[in-house]
This record gives sequence, structure tokens and C-alpha cells, in this order.
Amino acid sequence: MILDILLAEYLHAVAKAAKYGKILLGQTIDGCQECGQQIVDMTPGEKALHVLSELPGGDEFVVLGCEGYRYVDPELLGLPRGNWQDWQVND
Ligand SMILES: [Zn+2]
Repeated sequence: MILDILLAEYLHAVAKAAKYGKILLGQTIDGCQECGQQIVDMTPGEKALHVLSELPGGDEFVVLGCEGYRYVDPELLGLPRGNWQDWQVND
């Protein structure tokens, strides 16, 4: 499946970018807009419905929302933005 390959590519790119400090705190989100939960308030079961990662400083952020939204700007990862909608922009 092409979609699965793109998702795997995204997840891999986020892990790499986070590890090498290419994602900064202001570019990440500490909660999921799809369920409205902050990471700090999530139970382990709720956390498991998301893909979370950590910046080198230890701050956790949401990589993939519980409904599949990709919170990290693909452009930061060197991936095509396509029809990605920026969560930081309210319309
Ligand atoms: Zn969620």
C-alpha cells in the first residue's frame, strides 16, 4: 500500500529529525487536537492510541493523532507537503 509506505516514511523522518534536533519545541504539539487530550493527562491506554515522540530535551510531542493526523510539518522533514493542513493555522 502506497499510503502505508508514506506513513512509514513520515514516522521514520520524524524519529530521525527529533533525534538530531531538527524539530524544535515551538514546532511540536503537546496534545492531540482530534481528541482534545494533552499528553500529560493521557492514560497509558490513551497514549497508545497516538504515536508520540520526544525531543532531545525530554519534551514529548504528538507525531500522529488518534485519528491519523500528522502533526509534524512535512516540510520540516524534507517531505512533500501535499494537501497537509497546518494545525497551527485556524481557519
Ligand atoms: Zn487524540
